[in-house]
Amino acid sequence: MSASEAVTDALRELHARFAGVREGRQADYIPELTRSDPDDFGLALVSMDGHSYSAGAADTPFTLQSVSKPFVYALALASLGLDEVSRWVGAEPSGEAFNAISLEPGTGRPANAMVNAGAIVTTALVPDSREQPAFGRILTCLSRFAGRKLDVDEDVHGSEAATGDRNRALAYLIRSTGTLPVDPVAAVDTYFRQCAVRATAVDLAVMAATLAYGGVNPVTGERVVSPEVAAQVLAVMATCGMYDSSGDWLLRVGLPAKSGVSGGLLAAGPARFGLAAYSPLLDASGTSVRGHAALGALSERLGLHLMKNPALPGSTVTLVTTADVLPSAPSGRLARALHERVGVVAAQGALDFTAAERVLYALDESGSEDADPVILDLREVTGADSDALALLHAGLSRLAREGRRAAVVDPGDRLGPPDLVRERTGQDLPRFGSREEAAEQCARAVAGPG
Ligand code: GLN
Repeated sequence: MSASEAVTDALRELHARFAGVREGRQADYIPELTRSDPDDFGLALVSMDGHSYSAGAADTPFTLQSVSKPFVYALALASLGLDEVSRWVGAEPSGEAFNAISLEPGTGRPANAMVNAGAIVTTALVPDSREQPAFGRILTCLSRFAGRKLDVDEDVHGSEAATGDRNRALAYLIRSTGTLPVDPVAAVDTYFRQCAVRATAVDLAVMAATLAYGGVNPVTGERVVSPEVAAQVLAVMATCGMYDSSGDWLLRVGLPAKSGVSGGLLAAGPARFGLAAYSPLLDASGTSVRGHAALGALSERLGLHLMKNPALPGSTVTLVTTADVLPSAPSGRLARALHERVGVVAAQGALDFTAAERVLYALDESGSEDADPVILDLREVTGADSDALALLHAGLSRLAREGRRAAVVDPGDRLGPPDLVRERTGQDLPRFGSREEAAEQCARAVAGPG
């Protein structure tokens, strides 16, 4: 027994709630997929610390099918960049089924990389050389997202290769437009192979968590793609990942997601969780019925909807006061009086742009008079991103120009290296190990010598 079992219990509850749903049917246009067990139902969740939770058939392997698409898109983006990839495949929801013939009139460019036409182009764009064949790169990439070596279900691959005329037809149509610098027809078999890569619901949750964690696999710690590529992929998943039900999914579930016709479904809560479900019974758009229900309920239960403001109000600034509350006030009447006017602002946690704005606002609130010195205590700050730092530096620079003295308590150098701070703020910001030292120094500095 352990406290974190409560997370598993939440998954078990959802599993029990939806396991009895018998609606939907297995995909049969790839005959081998009908051999899956329609009762199988697994759920998995992986946190940004790489903690993994699951319920039901979360270790049952199935083929990725369309769940492979966002990850191969990530590989193409990482190899060629967004501008080049966007020349050949768009980023607009098609509003059509996954296997629709959705090619832009005139250019023949597929609407997005989540429908089959766009995915075939995406696969064709993956660099292919004798030393490093495209499929080898794809399998390595998928494996790094999952954090373990994945393999191909040869029977499913053979089954789709034998019946995949519609996808071949799409590839011929794309080739007929004559603009693509690579051959989409030759890429179809590679596409079938990537669709036949085998994984479990737990693997899918790790893959989603890697996108949610800005491209770093939270279980292995390996950086798989850049934060920019991870964001680009999540954006396309949000608008196009669920085909012609993408709008409704974003409205109700509120997460970037991707489904596949074998019954796999994953969703990413950016900076929060990777979620996944497996259940082979599909609705009309090719999405797992139980998976859809369970991830929808989970998103609601955990408050994961993207459009709900995740920032907790007031969680950044922990103290706005004057230094006279500190235990050791400097002696001397003048020094003490000034000490009473030294403002203190303490911040905590991770600072992003939003949090940095709170800190700057608190600095303004902290003094009764414009010239009163202020101490910014950053000891409880765990990190700051570059946007937050730039804003803090700019704010401190304004204070300096307005003649307000500032000192920071920053033994961990959260404000960045002294050289950068000097350059950005135009001053040698005094840094201290404790609030008392900083307050004393501020009071004495204002009181002047003697
Ligand atoms: N391999 C499948 C196909 O191309 C993938 C489709 C899907 O999962 N939606 O038809």
